[in-house]
Parts: sequence; structure tokens; C-alpha cells
Amino acid sequence: MTDAILVLNAGSSSLKFSVFLDRAGATPQLALRGQIEGILTKPSFVACDASGATLAESDLDAANQPGHQGAAGFLLDWLEQRLGGQRLAAAGHRVVHGGFEFSAPVRVSAAVLAALERLVPLAPLHQPHNLAAIRAVAARAPELAQVACFDTAFHTAQPPLAQAYALPRRLTEAGIRRYGFHGLSFEYIAHMLPSIDMRAASGRTVVAHLGNGASMCALLAGKSAASTMGFTALDGLPMGTRCGAIDPGVLLHLLDHHGMDARGLEKLLYHESGLLGVSGISSDVRALLASRDAHAAEAVDLLVYRIVRELGSLAAALGGLDALVFTAGIGENAPLIRARVCRAAAWLGIELDESANAGGGRCISRAGSPASAWVLPTNEEQMIAMHTRAALAVMA
Ligand code: ADP
Repeated sequence: MTDAILVLNAGSSSLKFSVFLDRAGATPQLALRGQIEGILTKPSFVACDASGATLAESDLDAANQPGHQGAAGFLLDWLEQRLGGQRLAAAGHRVVHGGFEFSAPVRVSAAVLAALERLVPLAPLHQPHNLAAIRAVAARAPELAQVACFDTAFHTAQPPLAQAYALPRRLTEAGIRRYGFHGLSFEYIAHMLPSIDMRAASGRTVVAHLGNGASMCALLAGKSAASTMGFTALDGLPMGTRCGAIDPGVLLHLLDHHGMDARGLEKLLYHESGLLGVSGISSDVRALLASRDAHAAEAVDLLVYRIVRELGSLAAALGGLDALVFTAGIGENAPLIRARVCRAAAWLGIELDESANAGGGRCISRAGSPASAWVLPTNEEQMIAMHTRAALAVMA
């Protein structure tokens, strides 16, 4: 009998899921994926097989059990029927924050859940939903092993200097420090690099995870050495609707002179800024690239400019650059953005292969380029499935 691993990524209004089949020795293989959207309002369910063909679609009755509880209950019932001969061995969760206590995935117990609950103030927009999904699965299937996999854990390898803010020591000790996020994506890329390019795997590599949320990570021999996100997922690059790095004096000014309070700042910085704020049109790079509006062009220009500057900063942290990897929605699908970044990074030794970049090649630098450039699809769900299987093996 093949074991199945359920991977869950819970947001405020959605529960994304994937199921991987665990064949001994081999990488867990995607069997199906889907999501339940609108879990607080009008929940709807869709599941597809590994090729993307729809397996099931339905509206849920939210009257009895709304929220994550109802969504998880529905999903586990559906999976029980769907999986037939396969045993559901565990659920692996994407959990945004592991603080400095959790530097690796962990099997969830009551004590672990309590520790993760204490981290809610560090990630109030994401952590509560991640934990709600864990509780919902525990309520419906108390015997099922659950494993929490953290977006922060990969970055705990960073040297102390890379994690520090120049604040009074008592605040650093209270946990005000750089954590970094998107760790499961960077870890997946680091895991893949040895089979792709040994120099990138063992050397100084910058990974640009450019999606709706975007951050960059400096890898030294596959370990995180620095990242653009810090205490929260607001820092670094401008994103779909998030501002990225900003002078903290701006926030003081907005509080003192624009009548804003903390909630107003949160809305501004997380939801109204970034590409949407600058363009006034859209948070989606596809829409901005298709637009003739000067403000759309300016938003894209600012994104490229900030990526290029952060690349220089991360290369400085690494003492040079051997490889640059693009991943996530924009990184994997926007050759124009990649080309502009690579051209501006010629001083770091990147010689772009224009036709490989335009034609969807994996390696997009010319043969003999002093630093190489790559497009590699990320797969955070696969990473969670691998971690969950490894945690199960430790428990066995
Ligand atoms: P998330 O951070 O939500 O996981 P993704 O990694 O899926 O996001 O990236 C989503 C973003 O990728 C979209 O908002 C869009 O800006 C960008 N994107 C997707 N496809 C393309 C494309 N073909 N060209 C340019 N940008 C794209």
C-alpha cells in the first residue's frame, strides 16, 4: 500500500492542498492538488490531477461549519473516498513563522502548537490561519501525524550579523531581528542545484523568488547567508501590493502628520503599496507589461531597479557572485524582467543569452559567462512533502 502525504497551505480565506504519493526511496510524487476558496463566505472546492485535469468541483455548505474547520473536514472526507487503497500517513503544513526556536520542521504536539501560538504577534496576518488549519485537522483526525514546515527555518543558518538590526540589545533579545521568509522555496532551489550546476550549488548564488510576494536570498554553498526580507515579509523588494524597504522615518511621519494609526499603516504597507500603489492599475506584472500607461511602466522600472540593487547588496554579502537564479511567478514567466535584471548585472559577470532567455531555456547565460543565470521552477509543496516524510521516518 502506498502512503499519501497531504500538504496544506492555509490563508485567511483559502485552504490550498496537494497530495503526494510516497514511494520508498523516490521523491514524493504529486498525485493531485486543489483549493477551497472563500472559506469564510461562500466556500468552493476544486481538485485537479497532476496534469491539471479537473477531478472534482463543488460548492460547500458553510452553514454548519464555516472556516478552516469546515474546509478541513470536507477535504479529509473527500480524500478518504478518493485515496481508496492509499493510506494518509501525515499532513505537512506551511507555517510562516518558526521564530528562532524552530530551525527545522517539527511534528506538531500540544506544546509545539502553544509555542507557535506565541509567535502570532510576529506574523499576525498569516500565522493564525496556518495554526487554524492544524487545529482543524487535529479535530477531525486526531490520530493523523502533523508536521509544521516553516518559511523562516532555512534562514536560521544565517550568520548573526545578517540577522541583526542596529537596535538596543534588549530589543534584539526580545526577538526583533531579521528572520527572512520564502525559506521553503529557497531550500527547494538549493536542494535542486547539485543536479543542475555544481558551481551554483557549491558557490555564491543569489535566488530571486519573484511572485506576488517577492524576496531574494544569498546562498553560500546552498545555505542561506542573507535575505531581503527581515522581521516581516514587508522588507526588501517592492511586491504586488507590499511596499518593500522603506525609510522607517516615513512611518513616523505618516503617524505624526497624516493622521494614520498602526492599522492604517498596515493596510497601506501590505495592501495598497508596491506595484499596485505605484501604477494605480494592478498588482499583476502581466497587466503592467501589457499596459501603455506611464505609471505601469514606472512600477515595472522600480521593481527592476530594486532587484538590481538588492542583487548588488547580496553579492557583497557573499563576496562575489557565481550564479543568479530566477523563480516563482514573475521569475519563471517574465523574460523581459529577467533580461533587464541580467543586463544591469553585467558588472557582476552575467552575460545574458538573449535567445535562451526568450525561448524558455533553463540556463539563460552564455557559455563561459563568468557568472551563470538560471530559471528554475520552485516547488514549496514538494519541499513540505519531503520534510514531512523525513519527519515521519524519524518518528518511526
Ligand atoms: P504567489 O506569491 O502568490 O505564490 P506566484 O509565484 O504564483 O505568486 O506569482 C504570481 C505573480 O506572477 C502574478 O501576480 C504575476 O505578477 C506574475 N506572473 C505570472 N505569470 C506571468 C507572466 N506570464 N508574465 C509576467 N508575470 C507573470
